[in-house]
Amino acid sequence: AIATEHSSLIIYSQSLGETISKELALTEQLRVAISNKELELYFQPQLNIQNGQIVGLETLIRWITPDGFISPAEFIPLAEKSGLIIPLGEWITINACKQAKYLIDQGYKDIVVAINISPQQFQHPNFYDMIVGALAFTQVPAKNIELEITEGVIMYNESDTIDLLHKLKAVGLMLSIDDFGTGYSSLSYLKQFPIDKLKIDQSFIFNVNTNEADKAIVSAIVDLGKNLGLTLIAEGVEELEHLNILKDMGCQEIQGYYFSRPLPVAKLHTFLQDNQDH
Ligand code: C2E
Ligand code: CA
Ligand code: CA
Ligand code: CA
Repeated sequence: AIATEHSSLIIYSQSLGETISKELALTEQLRVAISNKELELYFQPQLNIQNGQIVGLETLIRWITPDGFISPAEFIPLAEKSGLIIPLGEWITINACKQAKYLIDQGYKDIVVAINISPQQFQHPNFYDMIVGALAFTQVPAKNIELEITEGVIMYNESDTIDLLHKLKAVGLMLSIDDFGTGYSSLSYLKQFPIDKLKIDQSFIFNVNTNEADKAIVSAIVDLGKNLGLTLIAEGVEELEHLNILKDMGCQEIQGYYFSRPLPVAKLHTFLQDNQDH
């Protein structure tokens, strides 16, 4: 038994070492990718299911290498760990704002472009100035930009977070809570924070048509949000059946493969032309 324990310990430490060197290699590749501009922004359309209008676009980063895509679920955590998320996040913000400005100038005056904000970015002392600077530089009205934050952001330092959110709201930005329902924070923050929208996490949506517990949770979130005067958007809507259930519940917006996958810019422009007359 001792021998087995001993050898499994060695195997464990070897694979941990491998994991760490793989992470370091990927972080180094990411650094190079950022300077070589191998990163590209995709945009996933969001649909108002009560009136059929395209209301927004979520900015989702893609890392395209000669060997294929590397998922942001894999490299964003490394960017967060290494601090690369600060320059990368600024690049994402400026380019998402540029795209918003372009679409506004094309006549999509009310389109809202949402940007994912990592907790490390949110806590960075320069975050507010970076955001306001990007708005000024790209000449995009603040009401056309939404910042997606997770419940995790809120848990660090409550009073600083409240102040910062109020400052961002005062500029006119839209604010949403991403992955809503998966965090561990208390719901009381909802009455203190100037939030516009809840994004219901996709894990509750995938089986909303077959799983009674998921359906009960989604329905409760929709009622909670509506009673607080918030907009609700369901993520991960893959089927018409999901959409219909959400519509009956009174959820205003959806995002997911049913309506559109995240699109590169050229495809986005065609998609918008085909789906919206303006
Ligand atoms: P997220 O913010 O929760 O983004 C939603 C994810 O769900 C995206 O994955 C999107 O492509 C995917 N998705 C959308 N509709 C469907 C659907 O109907 N079914 C399924 N199965 N998936 C769907 P993606 O693009 O791989 O991004 C993963 C995560 O990486 C994001 O989760 C976000 O946490 C992070 N991320 C992506 N882009 C950025 C970024 O620009 N900045 C930061 N800080 N994080 C980002
Ligand atoms: Ca998001
Ligand atoms: Ca999400
Ligand atoms: Ca997520």
